[in-house]
Amino acid sequence: MTQTQRLELPYRSIPDMFLHRVAETPDAKAFARPAPDDADDPIWMTWREVDGRARAIAAGLTTLGVRPEDRVAVLSSTRLDWILADLGVMLAGAATTTVYPTTEPEEAVYIVTDSGSKVLFAENPEQAAKLKDAELPSLTHIVLIDGAPTGTEAKPTMTLADLEAAGRAATEADPGLIDGIVAGIDGDRLATLIYTSGTTGRPKGVELLHAGWIWQGRTQQDTGVLSADDLQYLWLPLSHSFGKTLLCGIIYVGLPTYVDGRVDKLIDNLGRIQPTLMCAAPRVFEKVYNRVVTGAQADGGAKLKIFTWAVGVGKRASAERLAGRTPGGLLKFQAGIADKLVFSKLRARLGGRMRAMVSGSAPLAPEIAEFFFAAGLPILEGYGLTETSAGSFVNRESEPRIGTVGQVLGDLEVRLDSDGEVLLKGTPVMRGYHNLPDETAAAFTEDGWFRTGDIGELDDDGYLRITDRKKDLIKTSGGKYVAPSHLEGLFKSVCPYTSQAIVVGQARNYVTMLVTLDPDAIKGWAETTALAGKSYAEIAASREAFDLVDGYVRELNAKLNRWEQIKKFSILGRDLSIEDGELTPSLKVKRRVVEKSFAADIDQMYAGTLAEI
Ligand code: AMP
Repeated sequence: MTQTQRLELPYRSIPDMFLHRVAETPDAKAFARPAPDDADDPIWMTWREVDGRARAIAAGLTTLGVRPEDRVAVLSSTRLDWILADLGVMLAGAATTTVYPTTEPEEAVYIVTDSGSKVLFAENPEQAAKLKDAELPSLTHIVLIDGAPTGTEAKPTMTLADLEAAGRAATEADPGLIDGIVAGIDGDRLATLIYTSGTTGRPKGVELLHAGWIWQGRTQQDTGVLSADDLQYLWLPLSHSFGKTLLCGIIYVGLPTYVDGRVDKLIDNLGRIQPTLMCAAPRVFEKVYNRVVTGAQADGGAKLKIFTWAVGVGKRASAERLAGRTPGGLLKFQAGIADKLVFSKLRARLGGRMRAMVSGSAPLAPEIAEFFFAAGLPILEGYGLTETSAGSFVNRESEPRIGTVGQVLGDLEVRLDSDGEVLLKGTPVMRGYHNLPDETAAAFTEDGWFRTGDIGELDDDGYLRITDRKKDLIKTSGGKYVAPSHLEGLFKSVCPYTSQAIVVGQARNYVTMLVTLDPDAIKGWAETTALAGKSYAEIAASREAFDLVDGYVRELNAKLNRWEQIKKFSILGRDLSIEDGELTPSLKVKRRVVEKSFAADIDQMYAGTLAEI
């Protein structure tokens, strides 16, 4: 598609899109929350009801002095109130900044300060306490979603109910207040400032505009990823761009969505809610897969044999279907039996109505995709970045290809650089990194293409395969970024015996580290222990050295967000060397070579994380 054929966007802004949605289907189900104690059916709100609450929040924010494009931060787990707060921010013309509930206090303070947030929605007093002793020059108020102010908060604090009451009073005095604000917001205004990891450990605020989010809504409708007939189960962190893009799709398309961020309740709840659609990071699919496979292994005997047979048959049948053929003859017959004995039960555990699932944020292992396709549970893998308002590529339900992230969305332009780096250009691409002109300039080519930092291959039909990464960041299967060089530097600064530290975790469900010890330093230490006179290899393999390093790893972990923490480490039997090709002549670590040379040590640290059939 050429640049002149731009995708038409029917709305000017997210709040404009929202008000159209409310006007079009006021009495349709919009969002549900779980009943207290999960005792009853979920509690649904119509679009009209959502409108009432969101308008009250928006008007309440204006009474606190929030003006268009001011930032308002949300620090909460995924729940319906998160969405109401966000819609309130949108209707006030302001921009949402997000903080994960798992973010450590220091980083939470950094995000609220760097974004210049005026108001913070905190899930409860405990979350608000993360900011307790900070200066927070721009912040004027805190709003608690749950609980009452404790009097120790960093700034004047009120409850969400108080804010809404103030908002209702303001709207009574000026009924046209919110519609007037919404009329003044155009597509090129700031809608969100979502923070993403930087390679140095400091997160960067990604400035995303209303037009990009409307574009996301439209392309989700055009590709059929979301449809008005769906019932969606939403648990993804709304602090991440994947969650936000879905929110825009939900408003654009108008489908009912059950919102519940409690991942531990997910499997049980799927049976109750019976959704037709769920989006997730690969980690969730790994969990379901592991549970099913280890369950079959625990059954053992004939049951395990049937399971293994069924998976083999299912995979062959689905490979035929994915190649556009219909399994016939014996395979068709066997697939029917496999389905009855094994796969129909898995589908029932996921509620029995799942049309499709979407995986994004990190690479999905092909064997997991094959397994779910075999079970009649297609996982459509997509790809994008926070910097591109999330969705950039996705596999369509009609012609998915396992191992690829599908075809480009809408009118987004794609090009591969000479080294294979995926370059993107178009409406959903960020305006830039907040207050970081140098980083922004470095993120674009001279002719305005956004550098994704991912290496890929495009086939003749436009399917993209991500094959490697150029950026110094890894992605866990939970979809979380980790900056390896930063962690390695921190570790070296806490552990004086380190020679090299190599953080591992790409597409894995936790982070690990390979460590080599400085031979002189560690031998000096060994002299003070029972290991005196032992060789480097003997010291490295000893319990004493393990305990020594373990203490430093714990010290490091105490400084890190939960998802960055080093869950396991391995002390290598020798140091890295230039001769073995693991270090460059300038002594830089060649990660790929190290990961290959010490593949067995790495595998050991991940033993049992992905069940084998
Ligand atoms: P984020 O900004 O957190 O959404 O992270 C974006 C990055 O996640 C991309 O640049 C990729 O490195 C990675 N990523 C997202 N989806 C996929 C995928 N399907 N396969 C491989 N990498 C992915």
